[in-house]
Amino acid sequence: MTFVITEPCIGTKDTACVDVCPVDCIHPVKDAPEFETEEMLYIDPDTCIDCGACEPECLWEAIYEDASVPEVFSDDTALNAKMMDAQDDFEVPVNEGSDQPSPEQVAANKEKW
Ligand code: SF4
Repeated sequence: MTFVITEPCIGTKDTACVDVCPVDCIHPVKDAPEFETEEMLYIDPDTCIDCGACEPECLWEAIYEDASVPEVFSDDTALNAKMMDAQDDFEVPVNEGSDQPSPEQVAANKEKW
């Protein structure tokens, strides 16, 4: 089992999840060169310890346990794993905090999908 970041992360890249992950398996982080060019964040399924800490931290509701990923986001499970093939390019997370979205922003972001 692992947790998966899905498409509602696109355009938000909130990073609140990065701040709580005890094993630093969410990439890229804000100060990584890839942060500006990647559309979204990803979880390394081989390193994730399934603690679940990231899921409630994502106020955009983009993170799911792999068994609970909605069908519309089903491709994202493989995408998270695939992106981790390039994890040597990523850097160790730095906690820089993040602004919290309003309920209206969360609803508007979900409407896109
Ligand atoms: Fe990190 Fe835990 Fe989320 Fe896995 S479930 S990505 S270990 S915070």
